[in-house]
Amino acid sequence: MRKLLFLPVLLICALTQAQTIDASTAAKAITAAGLKDHLSIIAGAEMQGRETGTEGERRAAAYLISQYKKFKLKPGNNGAYTLPFKLYQDKVVSSELKVNGEPYTLDKDYWVNASNVPQKSLKTNAVIFVGNDFNDKSTVDVKGKLLVATENKERSMMKIMAAQKLGALGIIIIANNNPTMASNLTGRLSLTAPTANFVSMTVTKSVGSRLLGGSKDFSDQELADVPKGVYSTTIDWATERNTSEVPSADVITILPSKEKTDEYLFITSHYDHLGMKDGVINYGADDDGSGTTSVVAIANAFAEATKKGFSPKRNIVFMNVSGEEKGLLGSRYYSEHPVYPLEKTTADLNIDMVGRIDPTYKGDSMNYVYVIGEDKLSSDLQPITDKINEHYHMELDRRFNDPKDINRFYYRSDHFNFAAKGVPVIFYFNGTHRDYHKPTDTVDKINFDLMEKRVRMIFETAWEMAMREDMLKRDMPLNMPAGR
Ligand SMILES: [Zn+2]
Repeated sequence: MRKLLFLPVLLICALTQAQTIDASTAAKAITAAGLKDHLSIIAGAEMQGRETGTEGERRAAAYLISQYKKFKLKPGNNGAYTLPFKLYQDKVVSSELKVNGEPYTLDKDYWVNASNVPQKSLKTNAVIFVGNDFNDKSTVDVKGKLLVATENKERSMMKIMAAQKLGALGIIIIANNNPTMASNLTGRLSLTAPTANFVSMTVTKSVGSRLLGGSKDFSDQELADVPKGVYSTTIDWATERNTSEVPSADVITILPSKEKTDEYLFITSHYDHLGMKDGVINYGADDDGSGTTSVVAIANAFAEATKKGFSPKRNIVFMNVSGEEKGLLGSRYYSEHPVYPLEKTTADLNIDMVGRIDPTYKGDSMNYVYVIGEDKLSSDLQPITDKINEHYHMELDRRFNDPKDINRFYYRSDHFNFAAKGVPVIFYFNGTHRDYHKPTDTVDKINFDLMEKRVRMIFETAWEMAMREDMLKRDMPLNMPAGR
């Protein structure tokens, strides 16, 4: 009799085990208080603004990894929780310019930019003067030649690009007004070692006059009257650059599926920010501490759900990338060195700035989120979001899907590198605000109740995508403008 009594109890236990928790219940593991706890650390002073390649970035990565381990999620990169990558940065160590033997001084007579400084020294005995209306339609043979041009409003960049396109060695721009800032001698971080074959600099009118054969300084009129053509001028530009390697890493963790083991859903954010400037920390609480905290909270909610019997149909990968503020570098590295096949990646849900409201939404109308990119690659995306939103009642603001959006938000966060490879994406965003990219983007300004709602909605969207029978269909043409 006693033994028999146990049987129904065991049966009930077994049934409870098999019955999986539903998405809305699981979403309740995401709370305003929990989000605040994580964000207070991620956007805290100890993280020093999380600039790519710095100690602050490494501390933030260590915190994220500690959380994923705590949630018992698996390493996402062949046994590792990081996907390390190398960045390169150029510095100009010295620069000495002589024109016809006469020495000139950097930042007084001429200005350079680290990305357009020759690898070694530059010597030439002639220049081609191309005047002020030089463009890429020019029929002058400038291949391998050093050009000199006068400056006119906003056209200098076009001239530099034209010279580059036509295969010139470089271009020297004679300034209308001398630059007021010192030369930028530190180059941008880049995924490839810089190879500055093309050179450019800005010089004073006085140096410009010497370049064009003048023995004294030309007046503006004289300069305007200088005929185009070849001038025998000796230029000796001795420069020294060095390239340093800057290590960085994306953080990546996975909740493995037992069913569709070769399919993946990605949930991403960028954990890097602007770091410190003159001892002042850029905390980046909204950008993108909020998205990073969201990914951690979503990962935790999924992990908690698995304890109650949930098992995703396809793998869920949580990735916090670095190098976003330097030009979407961490996500680009991933898209060029994917750990999991991109064609088997059903979607990337990218969360970048979800803790605030922008000036468009004030007071009562703050119950919104911008959803961007949904209409680009898969017609499955929008109906899913709309369905999930039926019980969140948020305003899903899709205005930035407009291809003519001058803000170009679609190109400005990490989902873009997934989309460029054909992976359907949704970018969740609250818009910019007065604290955007300023030291005042701090935790105390985050609206955690609103953030909780947004993150729960993203969580349920992810749940739906992880549980669907088929991967999202890719039925829109991959038609990406090259520009970012
Ligand atoms: Zn940013």
